[in-house]
Amino acid sequence: MILVVIEQEDGSPDRLSAEALTFGRSLAETAGVPLHAVAWGAAAAAAAGSLAGSLAGNGVAVLHVIADPRLTDYAPEAIGKGLAQLVERDRPIAVIGTGSDRSAEVMAHVGARMGLPLVANCTDVRLGDPWEVTRQRWGGSLLEDARVDGPIRLLAVTPHALEPAVGSAGSPVPVQPFAPELTDRDLRVRITARVPAEVGRISLADARVVVGGGRGVGSAEGFAQLDELASLLGGTVGVSRVVTSAGWRPHAQQVGQTGTRIAPDLYIACGISGAIQHLVGCRSAKAILAINTDRDAPMVTRATYAVVGDLHAVLPAIISAVRAAQ
Ligand code: FAD
Repeated sequence: MILVVIEQEDGSPDRLSAEALTFGRSLAETAGVPLHAVAWGAAAAAAAGSLAGSLAGNGVAVLHVIADPRLTDYAPEAIGKGLAQLVERDRPIAVIGTGSDRSAEVMAHVGARMGLPLVANCTDVRLGDPWEVTRQRWGGSLLEDARVDGPIRLLAVTPHALEPAVGSAGSPVPVQPFAPELTDRDLRVRITARVPAEVGRISLADARVVVGGGRGVGSAEGFAQLDELASLLGGTVGVSRVVTSAGWRPHAQQVGQTGTRIAPDLYIACGISGAIQHLVGCRSAKAILAINTDRDAPMVTRATYAVVGDLHAVLPAIISAVRAAQ
């Protein structure tokens, strides 16, 4: 059996889980073994019915729900322990994790607890003895072929490397509850406060248009033009690490290796040089428009389109052209 991790949003697998499901389904079909899915937490338990419905038609035979309400919040150590107990009981040949930070952390706990090999950022796997995987290294700047040996392989799928092919037809898959044995010590990492996202802001990971700003924007106030363009295009603003380090914008808006990986139809990168740690976060954009004073900046040379000039002169021109077109 192959077990795929599902992180849900409103009763459906989220985008990264849909990618993991596509990866896991293809692997299960090649290996000729059943595909099972696992979700955890009170929200997943409450949404199990609709989740089971949305997994129909995706080759999933069983949905395991680790329903413990203590796993609803950020609790990677406890979730890892619960998942390890399920893995120990059912002994899948592989567990497929999503490309989210939380899933990667949970998979690392499973690997450490069970002494199993974990391969993060997988883009491909070839069955054999041993299995061979291709994975992204160094922020996606190189691909590595590696061999992974062990009775159970833990593979986390690299985010946005494959297009999810998720169906919806078919009868809901059966749901099997799983009750893990946890102690208070497993829950020593707790959420103590929450900072709510701005109401109405489109999520960076899902936005179809992202207007990105870097050091070249010059100040927190300089972002007014980027906010205006993002709002006109129905998108959202993303930023480089220089911008979050300067306190001009919150970390939640950072694009890159230590921020969010985005996959919009259009990324408008304003005053961003295109350091590798930033590029790895926006490489899945379908098109990039770079606005930069430096024609040799990596963002410009890698962009689909580029305007070489001062962003504070170029953006107002684009904004008025978009307004006229609308
Ligand atoms: P700069 O590199 O300073 O570039 C500014 C650009 O603006 C230049 O190209 C310049 O020509 C242009 N410019 C200046 N004025 C104007 C103007 N008026 N109009 C138009 N263009 C103008 N960075 C990230 O972004 N995301 C990450 O997740 C991330 N993770 C990291 C992790 C590690 C471990 C490390 C070591 C670094 C990480 N970084 C990350 C930092 C990264 O290496 C770069 O330092 C950063 O991305 C540079 O930000 P920038 O492009 O805004 O600034």
